Amino acid sequence: MRNRLCSHSSYPWSMRLFAVVLTCMDGRVQVKGNNYFSTTFGARNIDTVTAPGMVKYLADATERTSQILSDLRISIHEHGSAQIGVVAHADCAGNPVPDSTQKRQVSEAVAFLRTEFPGAEIAGIWVSEHSIVERIL
Ligand SMILES: [Zn+2]
Repeated sequence: MRNRLCSHSSYPWSMRLFAVVLTCMDGRVQVKGNNYFSTTFGARNIDTVTAPGMVKYLADATERTSQILSDLRISIHEHGSAQIGVVAHADCAGNPVPDSTQKRQVSEAVAFLRTEFPGAEIAGIWVSEHSIVERIL
């Protein structure tokens, strides 16, 4: 299926078809984060797993964490995603903690995901209130 799609695509062969981003449900940051990781990872399509204040579920395991990982595995196993982006942002309604705490959570989330998916390329960003992307890890 993937080869058939590639052969009819105008995209370079070297460009990956899928990467996956774990991000907040907040509409202000999804496009920003997806565009950042599409460019950074060289991926044509970005699968997106969302939750309000996503990083808090990855920094500290909760009931929701297993569902997020289950959603993530669909992208990895069915779309062949080998790159995972993590996004947190300022003024997060789902995770109303200081910016410094959010940035630490991004680091912890990336570390957690690297343990869960050791073969994947994983990076994390934080988006400021002015929509500036800061690479955390
Ligand atoms: Zn948020």
